Amino acid sequence: MITRNQIIHYTSDELIRVSIALTTGIVEKARQRHNLSPVASAALGRTMTGAALLAGDYKNHEGVSLKVAGDGLLGAVHADCFDTNKLRGYVDNPQVDLPLKVNGKLDVAAGVGQHGQLTVTRFTPEKTTYTSQADLVSGEIAEDIAYYLFTSEQVPSTISLGVLVSQDYTIAAAGGFLVQALPGAKDEDLARVEANITQVGALTTYLQDHPNGEGLIDIILSGMHFKELYRQNLYWRCTCSRQRFENALLSLRQEDKEALLKDPQVEMTCQYCGAKYVLSHDELAALYEAAAQRHKQN
Ligand SMILES: [Zn+2]
Repeated sequence: MITRNQIIHYTSDELIRVSIALTTGIVEKARQRHNLSPVASAALGRTMTGAALLAGDYKNHEGVSLKVAGDGLLGAVHADCFDTNKLRGYVDNPQVDLPLKVNGKLDVAAGVGQHGQLTVTRFTPEKTTYTSQADLVSGEIAEDIAYYLFTSEQVPSTISLGVLVSQDYTIAAAGGFLVQALPGAKDEDLARVEANITQVGALTTYLQDHPNGEGLIDIILSGMHFKELYRQNLYWRCTCSRQRFENALLSLRQEDKEALLKDPQVEMTCQYCGAKYVLSHDELAALYEAAAQRHKQN
């Protein structure tokens, strides 16, 4: 079965909005690019999935950055979602490995740490940014995001995030959902949704059995009238490029340029996506020569 990376938005007559994100392929890409340990895969996968859900929750925002900075061994977990559907992210210490919890699950809370802050930055199409912060409540990320949404944005939300890592460290399933009450939603309807959600069981198990989230919305909004608003494919993408790498090399001081020309090659790895850019000595010399020629002509 082909698993899709996508986000689907629904709304119900009872004024409840639900977004479901399926991110198995994207989390697997992140794992490969950053050589993530299982607990790092889980922490970054949950954070990136959370970023996709947050980016889509206001139509007038086009991007969001999450930084989960706890006191655990993983260091900070960074995830960006831009254009509402392009994801990237990294973990400060991607190879940290930790013992499983007694229930056999990955100990994300121990890796992230239970003390620290979740920082959320939202970007609007006008390039205005809004940053706000909330304390971490558990280090499990979903609860931390829900607490942030309630305290900083005054939106009561339920969020569930899950990443299942296989024995061979590949990602077996990843995804999540966000449920938000629109103004005017009734308490009894919210209580019904809360009860419905318990029927989903463990999200990772559900996604393993239903890789494209089949039937998930029917459980979450069981007994309600709802419709799909829209769906979008999600992508693992970064804003880095060879051109940006070259521009960075061109902006160096003269003595730094000369120092680089003593090396057989110069390389840079993008911290966000793990892409590696390499210029040989000759290519670097040609780059600087071309810039010097342009400078003379001006
Ligand atoms: Zn990059």
